[in-house]
Amino acid sequence: MTGRELKHPSVAQTHWRDQLKAAFSRPEALLAHLGLDDQGRIVDGHAPFPMRVPRAFAERMRPGDWQDPLLQQVLPTQQERQIMPGFANDPVGDQAAKSARGVLHKYHGRALLITTGACAVHCRYCFRQHFPYASEHASGAFSQAAIDYIAQTPSVEEVILSGGDPLMLATDRLERLTQQLSEVEHIKRFRIHTRLPIVLPDRVTQALTDWLTRLPWPSVMVVHANHAQEFDNSVDQALAALQSTGTTILNQAVLLRGINDNLAALTELMERSFQAGALPYYLHRLDRVAGSAHFDLDTADGLTLMDGLRRRLSGYLVPRFVEERAGEPYKVPLL
Ligand SMILES: *Cc1c(COP(=O)(O)O)cnc(C)c1O
Ligand code: SF4
Repeated sequence: MTGRELKHPSVAQTHWRDQLKAAFSRPEALLAHLGLDDQGRIVDGHAPFPMRVPRAFAERMRPGDWQDPLLQQVLPTQQERQIMPGFANDPVGDQAAKSARGVLHKYHGRALLITTGACAVHCRYCFRQHFPYASEHASGAFSQAAIDYIAQTPSVEEVILSGGDPLMLATDRLERLTQQLSEVEHIKRFRIHTRLPIVLPDRVTQALTDWLTRLPWPSVMVVHANHAQEFDNSVDQALAALQSTGTTILNQAVLLRGINDNLAALTELMERSFQAGALPYYLHRLDRVAGSAHFDLDTADGLTLMDGLRRRLSGYLVPRFVEERAGEPYKVPLL
């Protein structure tokens, strides 16, 4: 990392890399921090998908509350060990969509680059938790194959950086990647899918916003927050700094049992994310990944919630409720 990565807009306190190292990785430590006693509900929190929670995110959890909507997203529990029919390791057909090492080209016009397998937080419902990142991501030696694929595929007008979380990469790494992409003339739009501005807002450094400002394409950043409580002053500042680069900011969320599966929570999420500068984009039906059945909600209940949102909110605050189905040419709207 370079020394010029100063926090935007004020002075850097702890570098985001150091904050990552200090993230909670043991459930007992996080529970102790929140004043909670493990009552035998917790799995060991290690392999294959260990717990990871930045302190900046844990600070937004309510102490003493097992039902806290942020804690529920990140705490490994015994329920993950349940084997449920219909919940698979690759529920969305990512393996079939693989076009080159580190490239998923599923939908017309846009290709998704798996830039890294790493994330700042490990969401227990994540559909990519069983993805073989070690062999599939596009960083380092593999990035050339990914860029070659995009360069040789003129229908790809939009490149999406995904992962894992692309903002886990150093900014100069991202810069090198976009420099290579800028030589591909058919790219017209650029997109980043990231949860870091929410879970580790100090990742939004001056160097990062400088990079975004200099990009040669109109750019979109899709952040990911599932509950209004994930927003605080530090997230507001990070998103404002991102917005000042001219990047369009959208939010995607996942409909999650016990976390945001009621009208009040969803309404507040949409209003709060807009207040922070992120327009609601997608509300995803849970991808049915092994170990996530306890987060699942019937589609009918999701549709009832969507009807409630439409009755309450301005049209632009209503997200599109979608489900990803392997083999379909777009994320399927649920109506
Ligand atoms: C979700 C996704 C996209 C983006 O889809 P949009 O509907 O444009 O947001 C692109 N590629 C893959 C592989 C995806 O899973
Ligand atoms: S940040 Fe995104 S990719 Fe990473 S674990 Fe969470 S949902 Fe999955």
